Amino acid sequence: MISDAIDLSLIDTLFSRLAAPYAEQIGITRDAYGEGEQRAHELFIETASALGLAVEQDAAGNHFAIYPGEDRDQPAWVVGSHLDSVPQGGNFDGAAGVVAGLIAVAALRERGITPPRDIIVAAFRAEESTWFPASYLGSRSALGKLAAEELALTRADTGRTLAEHLRDCGGDPDAVATGDNWLGQRALHGMLELHIEQGPTLETEKRSVGIVTGIAGSFRYREARCFGEWGHSGAVAKPYRHDALMAFAELAMALEQAWDTLEQDGRRATVTVGQIATPPAQHAFSKIPGEVGFCLDVRSEDPAVLVDLEATLQTTIERLERERGVRFDLGPRTASTPAPMSAALTQRAATLATQLKISHRLMPSGAGHDAATFANAGVPTQMLFVRNQHGSHNPFEAMRIEDFVEGIRVLAALIQE
Ligand SMILES: [Zn+2]
Repeated sequence: MISDAIDLSLIDTLFSRLAAPYAEQIGITRDAYGEGEQRAHELFIETASALGLAVEQDAAGNHFAIYPGEDRDQPAWVVGSHLDSVPQGGNFDGAAGVVAGLIAVAALRERGITPPRDIIVAAFRAEESTWFPASYLGSRSALGKLAAEELALTRADTGRTLAEHLRDCGGDPDAVATGDNWLGQRALHGMLELHIEQGPTLETEKRSVGIVTGIAGSFRYREARCFGEWGHSGAVAKPYRHDALMAFAELAMALEQAWDTLEQDGRRATVTVGQIATPPAQHAFSKIPGEVGFCLDVRSEDPAVLVDLEATLQTTIERLERERGVRFDLGPRTASTPAPMSAALTQRAATLATQLKISHRLMPSGAGHDAATFANAGVPTQMLFVRNQHGSHNPFEAMRIEDFVEGIRVLAALIQE
């Protein structure tokens, strides 16, 4: 049984060493292309080398540990995640997927199992967009998908460019700019990423493992506004009011209703207004709001759902402008494409989890991950979620080692094929 070869003490050592530098601080801060992330990469190199694996560093400073398969010419598996964290985040978001890759390979090695193809355990850089204003910088570089101009992006806290930070970490920005990178030269069989779940579903349903069906795409408006007409709260009768806040409220409820209807049809999405405000310099207790600013974040793993919700947004705005005499300005729009997981891999992972008697469920990922880079590049990709008790991007994120081991068992079974 491969399960018996899973090295619990190595798991404990790795997570303890990853957390150790932050013992006196709130949460974990592994800054992308900075000291925190670099330390984690050095631990990765040390651990992989101790396991007898060859380690490659690419031009973007990503690291890859290679466990040779039976046929070195076969397209390889990539198994991994990222080693950066958000500021004052937790120890598991990202790092769990890298540790899982190392532990799974260590278990195969312990059992003397040579897989049919090479297994490449990957530790990616800079997945979180809190440091540089872009996601998946490391994994996109690894696949030659980073736009050269992104090297000029500056890190939020240091103000220095990605190129400068990359050089500090032994990378080569000029080579990254050409798109020519180590992993891109290899034929890939598939990509697997284990990650803590970042919501409460598995914990609530008492299941250890989530088998991800797709990673949500999104459309977002961060600076939307609705303009009406300021007025005296008592003096303007209903037919003459152009209340920006009430118009916005009706828009928000229309989107929530459209979302409810989608859910009833088994189509999943999330609709979030994370911020809303009337202008503090103008608003007052006894004034009809003449302006309201708001954000809108809509996500779904299904591109058709995003199209439908955006159509609802537009038609509702047109109706409200007509009926209420207000005007909406949605401001700049950003969007990302949903990344479907490989249906064959999803099915295979579910079958293996059932055979291994691991409590699991199929579920979408509302958050973005390095796996999306691979899926969108046409590499068959599968994510596995592990139950986590306190969400993520906070110091309290948690993961029981017994759940982590269940995730690794599925991972180890997949990479033997
Ligand atoms: Zn992550």
